[in-house]
Amino acid sequence: MHKVDFDLVEMTLDVMKYAIERISTTERKIGKPKKAEELKALVGETITADGIGGEVAFNLWKKHLVKTNVPVDHPRNLAFVPAAPTRAAIMFDLVTSASSIHGAYWMEGAGGIFCENEAMKWIVSLTGMPEGAFGVFTSGGTAANLSAIVTAREYWRSLKDAHKNEKGLIITSIGAHSSIKAMAKVADLDVLLVDTEARLEGAALQDTIDNLTADQRERLFAVVATGGTTNAGIIDDLMGISAICKSEGLWLHVDAAYGGGALVADSVRHLFNGIENADSITIDPHKWMFSPYDCGAVIYREPELAKNAHSQDGSYLDIFKDEGAHGFNPTDYQIQLTRRVRGLPLWFSLATHGTDRYKEAVERGLELAQIAGRLVTEHPDLELVQEPSLSCVLYRRKGWTPEDYTHWTYENHEKGFALVTPTKWKSGDTYETVSRFCFINPDTTEQDIVEILKTME
Ligand SMILES: *Cc1c(COP(=O)(O)O)cnc(C)c1O
Repeated sequence: MHKVDFDLVEMTLDVMKYAIERISTTERKIGKPKKAEELKALVGETITADGIGGEVAFNLWKKHLVKTNVPVDHPRNLAFVPAAPTRAAIMFDLVTSASSIHGAYWMEGAGGIFCENEAMKWIVSLTGMPEGAFGVFTSGGTAANLSAIVTAREYWRSLKDAHKNEKGLIITSIGAHSSIKAMAKVADLDVLLVDTEARLEGAALQDTIDNLTADQRERLFAVVATGGTTNAGIIDDLMGISAICKSEGLWLHVDAAYGGGALVADSVRHLFNGIENADSITIDPHKWMFSPYDCGAVIYREPELAKNAHSQDGSYLDIFKDEGAHGFNPTDYQIQLTRRVRGLPLWFSLATHGTDRYKEAVERGLELAQIAGRLVTEHPDLELVQEPSLSCVLYRRKGWTPEDYTHWTYENHEKGFALVTPTKWKSGDTYETVSRFCFINPDTTEQDIVEILKTME
């Protein structure tokens, strides 16, 4: 381990140079994957008893390996939910790594956690939740959803002894993200899906609750609404749903992993009205708050309830809970113990740019969706599946089969030109394969969209 087979300073400069190049170049190709065997043939054995040396390894990375990754911040990467971390955030991700901070307890990570909390205060302020609401950064939306659901379940069990051995039930809609079902599995919960991919309305939720069996109603403890569906950018009727949750005594979790960034945008903020009534909210800064991977966030109306669910006990941990070490301990509010201070890059970026720049950047994503909507409508071969919602645009190429969409995606990816993936949209009882844009990167241009649509002719 102590054998240094390269000049440390030189290697550090090389890495810095790479980072500088990476964050200052905007003209990049979209990388395409290779099979593991092909990569092995290109780079050979890299893990050896003596080590191949940093310079050799780094060169292999630059020459072969990095090119098989899709840079998620590419302006023509409009697949899934892309990302577009700011340069400031990327730079501070390097600083975060170099600082080696343990982000579980204030005793060890006070300065880092302080910065995270400053950023968190801003995020909480966007939600309009009441005084006392607060949150922590997680590894992503999945971990945030799990942390929230477990908090809700533990709270429900604490209310009535009879619930202790019962399997809980949650209601959500089929528009909800796949992680809701996956996390319900982890927490061993039943999920009831309201059969709509469109906006989940209060009336439909009330109907579903009214039609539960007595046993189901007894086991029902939470509703998960979506603040911007991943597939289509649809925001559920948060006001109506929150009123029902209140009258029925149910926990309301709002999953705004993707859409939450749009809370900062004046043009669409009203669509989220009611989110302030949630018991917990998920927002992913690594989606629409321009943070590098990975950074999610979970916010609670009553953080004490999360602490009851998640605080870990162990004789080796007592010291951190001692009065002398007092401060905010992020580990108490989500599933992870040891954690990176992953909110730190967001803090630096917010401090650097100010929150108005975030507003402008999100508004640009929303505007790009409107522009794409117009271009699709004007195009003789294309039509919108529904009006653009948030920064998602679903559209069809008239006459195309599902295979045509797949082929088109692969072809553009292969050329290193663009990554736009198909999805399915449910209307009535049938699923239709359609094309989908999701805009995050404010550097995507109208010309990018024009050129992508041209490849569909
Ligand atoms: C992306 C997404 C998630 C999952 O978040 P990860 O950060 O990928 O774990 C959950 N919910 C919604 C609505 C999402 O868009």
